[in-house]
Amino acid sequence: MARIDWTRDELLLACALVAENGWHELRTADQQVQDLSRLLRRLPLHDGAAADPKFRSPGSVSLKTGNIVTARAEYGGAPMKGGRLTNEVVADFTDRPDEMLAAARALRAGLASAETIGIPAQEGEADGAREGRLLRRWALHRERNKPLRDRKIRAVLAEGGTLHCEVCAFDFTAAYGGLGDGYIEVHHRLPLHISGVTDTRIEDLALLCANCHRMCHRSFLGESWRTPADLRRQMPKPDEMPPH
Ligand SMILES: [Zn+2]
Ligand SMILES: [Zn+2]
Repeated sequence: MARIDWTRDELLLACALVAENGWHELRTADQQVQDLSRLLRRLPLHDGAAADPKFRSPGSVSLKTGNIVTARAEYGGAPMKGGRLTNEVVADFTDRPDEMLAAARALRAGLASAETIGIPAQEGEADGAREGRLLRRWALHRERNKPLRDRKIRAVLAEGGTLHCEVCAFDFTAAYGGLGDGYIEVHHRLPLHISGVTDTRIEDLALLCANCHRMCHRSFLGESWRTPADLRRQMPKPDEMPPH
């Protein structure tokens, strides 16, 4: 079977293990390597790959922990060939260690339940997800929970509010008439790895238009997720907008 490249999610979990081990390689016989191998073989990322017993075997996980150690800027020797993505994830751990460790813990906690492993792919889950595809998938799934969404909308309307975007004030009804009635997207102010796996409170949810929602979830190398308040702060004022 062809070698299957490691994804960001897999690297997040492996990097966290190395970071928690003081940035030292872990051996094949190590219980944590055995456990991670078993977990990686269950992830819904590479269809059918686990039919090959060598896929993410303890030996290959141990080898990857060695790659990760040598990809770190602090490592004095020659780096092994871990690949570009390995280097990126290691750099993320160097820049934002607390956030990356928290993301790995949230992912491990979620993957302990078959329900989380079974969440279907979500639209937009792969768009530059620095926290990995599976945490993004889980977060988007959580936000598309209809009863939760309905409760939030009812709460806003009960207080006499209207359904408009908290960031840019876009109102679907004002823009599209009857077609836009009742349309708005619901977003968790805090990502899963910050909030942890908790019951969602209504006040944890923000109402956003589709554009601002995408922009809250978008992330780049060396930059973290942003809350609706962060997004509003970084938007140019109307008089700074380029002409179009
Ligand atoms: Zn908006
Ligand atoms: Zn969201």
